[in-house]
Amino acid sequence: MQFRDLGAQYQALKQDIDEGIQNVINSSAFILGKPVTELEGRLADYVGRKHCVSCGNGTDALQLALMAWGIGHGDAVFTSDFTYFASAGTSSILGAAPIFVDINLATFNMDPDSLEAAIQRVIAKGQLTPKVIVPVDLFGQPADYDKILPIAKKYGLKVLEDAAQGFGGNIRGKLAGSFGDLSATSFFPAKPLGCYGDGGAIFTDDDEINARLRSLRVQGKSPVDKYDNREIGMNSRLDAIQAAVLLPKFKAFVDYELEAVNKAAKWYTERLKDRFVIPTVQDGFYSSWAQYTILLDTKEERDAIQANLKAKGIPSMVYYPRGLHQQEAYAWMDLSDDMYPNTIEATKRVLSLPMHPYLTEETVDQICRELLA
Ligand SMILES: *Cc1c(COP(=O)(O)O)cnc(C)c1O
Repeated sequence: MQFRDLGAQYQALKQDIDEGIQNVINSSAFILGKPVTELEGRLADYVGRKHCVSCGNGTDALQLALMAWGIGHGDAVFTSDFTYFASAGTSSILGAAPIFVDINLATFNMDPDSLEAAIQRVIAKGQLTPKVIVPVDLFGQPADYDKILPIAKKYGLKVLEDAAQGFGGNIRGKLAGSFGDLSATSFFPAKPLGCYGDGGAIFTDDDEINARLRSLRVQGKSPVDKYDNREIGMNSRLDAIQAAVLLPKFKAFVDYELEAVNKAAKWYTERLKDRFVIPTVQDGFYSSWAQYTILLDTKEERDAIQANLKAKGIPSMVYYPRGLHQQEAYAWMDLSDDMYPNTIEATKRVLSLPMHPYLTEETVDQICRELLA
C-alpha cells in the first residue's frame, strides 16, 4: 500500500504526461518557455489572481516573496510553530527573525489569539519591526484568514500565505493562493498538485511585484536583458518538463481529484469519528486534504498504533514530530515548550493516514479495520 499513490495517478494520466514530456524534449527548450507560461496562466485563472510566477520549489517561492518585499535584518516574520521547516527557514536565511506562533489543536493551523499576543510581545520588546505574517494552510485546510487578515490590518503587516499544502482548498469558494498579499505554493511530488521533481509558484495581483519576482528568479535581471543584473536574485525557475507534467495533472486535479480526496476523507471520517479525534474542517472551509491526520490520546497510543499499522503493511506518517521552536537550528533561541502547548500536544499525538485521490473505499475499510481492532 502507498501513502500517496503517485503510480496510480500516472497510470490514469500516462498518455498526456508522456506526450507532454516528449514535446519538451523535441523542442529542446527546457527551462521556462511555452508550457511554463501556459501553466502560469491557468493557475492564476484558477486561483483567481492576476499573476502566477513559477519558480524552482516552494521554499524558493516563500523566499522570493520575502525578497520582493525587501525583508531582512531587524524584521520579525510570524509563522506557525507546527509546520514544515521552510515556513521559517526562508526568513532566517534573509537575516530576518522568525517568530513562532502556537496552533489551534483542532485545525492544526496558526491560532489567531496566539498570533496577536506574539505581535504585541515583539512590539513591547522593541528590538524587531513586525513586518510579515506567514500563515500556513496545513494539511490542505486554509488558515483562519477570517481572523488573521484583520489582525494583519490592525498592525499594518503583510501576509505571505504558505499554500504549499493548501492548493485547491477554499473558504466559502475563495481559493487558497488568494489570501495573502503574496501566496506561495509547492509542486513537490507529494503535495496536492505535484510534479515529477521540484517546482513552486507565487501568486500576486500586484504588477510591480510580479515584475520584481520575475527578475528575482533570474539573478535580478532586467526585463529585457538577461545579462543586465539590477539586484541580487536567485536562480529559481520552473523546468518546462515539470510544467508539461503539471498541465494534465492540474486538469485532473480540477476535474475529479479534488472531489475524490474529499470523498476519501468522508470514508475515513464516517468510520473513525466515534473512536478517534478526526480532523476538524472549519465551517465554510474546504480542504484539499494534503494529509488526513487523526489525534490519538497519548504518544504511547500513537506509537503503538503506528507500529501495528506498519506490521500490517499500512504506511502512516508523523507530521510533525517536533515544533519549529524545538528544531536544533533554532536551539539558540532557547524557547520554552510552555509557550507552545498545542504544538507539543500535536507532535505527540498526530498520525497521518494514507491519503490521495486514487484511494478506494475498500482500502480505507482495510486501514480503518486495523485502526479500530
Ligand atoms: C512542502 C512545503 C514547503 C516547501 O516546499 P518545497 O517545494 O519542498 O520547497 C513549504 N511550506 C510547507 C508548509 C510545505 O509543506
